Amino acid sequence: MPLLHRIARRLTGPLLAAFTDQRPAARLIRHSAKKYWKLLALNFGTSLLASLSEGATLGIVFLSVSLISAPENSDWSKFSILGNLSQFDWLHDWLSSALSTRTGRDGIFVLLLITAVVLQGLMAVTSYVNSISTAVMGSRMGAEITGKLNDRVLSLTFGCASRYRVGDLLLYVGSGGSTVQTEISLANGLLMNSLQLLIYLAILVAISPWLLLVASGMAAIMQAVQKLLLPRIRSISREQQVVNVELSSHQNEQIQGLRLLHSTGQLESSRKRLRFLLNESKRLSIRQSKLSNLVQPISNMLPIISIALIAALSLFIFKDRSSGVLPSLVTFIIALQRLNQRVGSLTGLATSYAANSANVERLNEILRDDDKEFVRSGGVPFTGITDGIQLDDLSMRYSPELPEALSSIQLRIGRGQTVALVGSSGAGKSTIADLLVGLYDPTGGRILIDGVDIHSINLSSWQQRLGVVSQDTFLFNASIASNIGFGLERASLEDIKDAAAKAQAAGFIADLPEGYETKIGERGYRLSGGQRQRISLARAILRKPELLILDEATSALDSQSERLVQQAIEQFERQHTVLVIAHRLSTIVNADVICVLAEGRIQERGRHHELLAQSGLYAKLWSDQSKHPNQTSMAATPV
Ligand code: ADP
Repeated sequence: MPLLHRIARRLTGPLLAAFTDQRPAARLIRHSAKKYWKLLALNFGTSLLASLSEGATLGIVFLSVSLISAPENSDWSKFSILGNLSQFDWLHDWLSSALSTRTGRDGIFVLLLITAVVLQGLMAVTSYVNSISTAVMGSRMGAEITGKLNDRVLSLTFGCASRYRVGDLLLYVGSGGSTVQTEISLANGLLMNSLQLLIYLAILVAISPWLLLVASGMAAIMQAVQKLLLPRIRSISREQQVVNVELSSHQNEQIQGLRLLHSTGQLESSRKRLRFLLNESKRLSIRQSKLSNLVQPISNMLPIISIALIAALSLFIFKDRSSGVLPSLVTFIIALQRLNQRVGSLTGLATSYAANSANVERLNEILRDDDKEFVRSGGVPFTGITDGIQLDDLSMRYSPELPEALSSIQLRIGRGQTVALVGSSGAGKSTIADLLVGLYDPTGGRILIDGVDIHSINLSSWQQRLGVVSQDTFLFNASIASNIGFGLERASLEDIKDAAAKAQAAGFIADLPEGYETKIGERGYRLSGGQRQRISLARAILRKPELLILDEATSALDSQSERLVQQAIEQFERQHTVLVIAHRLSTIVNADVICVLAEGRIQERGRHHELLAQSGLYAKLWSDQSKHPNQTSMAATPV
C-alpha cells in the first residue's frame, strides 16, 4: 500500500539516516558506535525480545477472551487452535480433554493469565536492560565525544580558532556530548518502536486488513498534521539556537569585559541587549512549546475516533467467525491501541529528532575539515638556537580580501642579539611576533631557524622554548606561583621566586595576603595591569627562553616600575636572544638592530645613533618623544 509505505518511510527515515548519513557528525557517532558493538547488540536483542513478548501477549489475550466469551455448549473440537496443534498429539489431547470440562477451561484461563503476566514481566525486564544499555552507551560515547570535540578545538590553529566566538566554541564542546547521547537514545527509541510497530501491524493484518485500512486512513491524517507542524518546529529550533549562542556570547563577553563596560558607561546598553536576547529566547521557547505540544493531543484524539469506527464496522466483519465478534474485536482494539502508542512515540521521536537536528548540524560545523586549518604536528624537535633566526622575504595577509599586513620582510635576529621593532600602530610589529611564535602561517616567504625552515621543526617544542610577554596578559584563576610556573611542572618555588625577583614582581607579591600562594581572581581582576605584566615577564624569564619576545611588555607599567623592569630586561638581553616591540624609544636605545616599520615594510634599520644620523622616520619619532616624554603610545604619532 503506497500510503503505508510512505508512512513507514517517513518514520524510518531518521533510523536509516543513522546508517547512511555521510556527514562528519554521523560518521563520528558511527565510529564510536563500532567501539560499543556489544552494547549495541544487547540493545538490538532486547528490543527484539521485548517486541516478541508484546506480540505473544496479544495472542494470549485473544485466546483468553475466546475462552471466557464462548457459550457453555460450544463445540470445542472446532476451536481453531486445536486444528493448529494437530501435529503435537499430547498437547492436542490434553487441551481437548481440558476444554471439555468447566474446571478444565477455568484452569486454562488461569494458565493463560499467568503466561500473559510472565510475558509482560519479561518485556519489562528487557525494556529495562534496553534502557540501561542505551544509557551506558550514551554516557560513554558522550564523554568520548566531548573529549574529541575538545581535542578538535585545540587542534585548530590559533588563527582559525580565533575566527570563532568564545560562546560558539564553548557550546561546541559543552553540548556535543549531550547531542550525541540524545541522538543515540532517539535512534534506540526508533528501533524499538519500529519493531513493535511491525509486530502489531502483522497482528492487525491477520485479524482484518479492512479494519487496518480504516486505521491507515487515520494515520494518513496524522501524517498530514505532522507535515504541517514539523518544518515550523525545526525552523524555530534553529532560530532558538542562534539566539542562545548570541546570549551565551553576550554573557561571556559582558563578564570578561566588565572593566570596559564600567569604564565606558556601557552597563545600561549591555543590560538592554541582554534583556532583548532573553525576551527573544523566551518568545521562541514559548512558540516552540506551543507547536510541539500540539502534535500530541491531535495524535491522541484520532485513535479514539478510529476505535469507535472500528467497533461499529466489526459487527459486520466478524459476525461469521467461529470464535464470535468479541475476541477479534478486543484483540484488534488492543493491538491498534498499542500501535497508536507506538505511532505516537514515533511521532514524538521524529519531533525530537527534528529538534536535535539543529544541534547535530552544529556538530557538523565544527567537525567538517574543509573550512579549517589545523596545528601542524611532527617535525624535528627544537633543541636551541646556535646561529640565529632569519625572516626571509616574509609576507602576511590575514585574509584574501584584506591588504597585506607584512610585505617582503628581510630580517636577521642573531643568537644573543636584541632586535627592536618600532613604528606606529598597525605597522605590522605584532604580526612579526605572532608569525615567529607560530600563531599564524605566513602567506609568503619563510622563517629559518639556523637555516632550517620553521615548518620542519616541531611546533610545540619550538613554542615551549619561547618566552612571550605581550600587552594582553592571561592569568589563570590559580596561585601566583602556579601562574608564574605555568607549563613548567618541575619549576621549584626557589626558581619561581628568582624569576619574580628578576621581573621586579617580588616586592608586590610579598605584600599580597598569602604571598606566592595568593589566588588570582578570574582574568587577574585583583592585580593592576602593570603587576600582571610583571607576572607575565617572570613567567617568561623562568622558562629560560631561547628567544624572548617582548611585545610592548612595559606599556602598562608606571615609570618607576618601568625603570626597574627595564633594568631586568637589559640584564636578560645581554645573555639572550630578544625581539622587542616598543612604544617608548628610550627603552630600546641599546638594541643591536632597530627596525622602523610602516605599512608592513621595514623602512629603516640600524643602531640608535645610526638611525638618528639618518634624520628619517626614527629621528622624527625620537624628537617627538623627547618633546613629549610622557607620551606612552605611538598610536597617535604619525610616522
Ligand atoms: P602593530 O603591532 O604594529 O600595531 P599589527 O601587527 O597588530 O600591528 O597589525 C598589522 C595589520 O594587520 C593591521 O592592519 C591590523 O589591523 C591587521 N591585523 C592584525 N591582526 C589581525 C587579525 N587577526 N585579523 C585580521 N587583521 C589583523
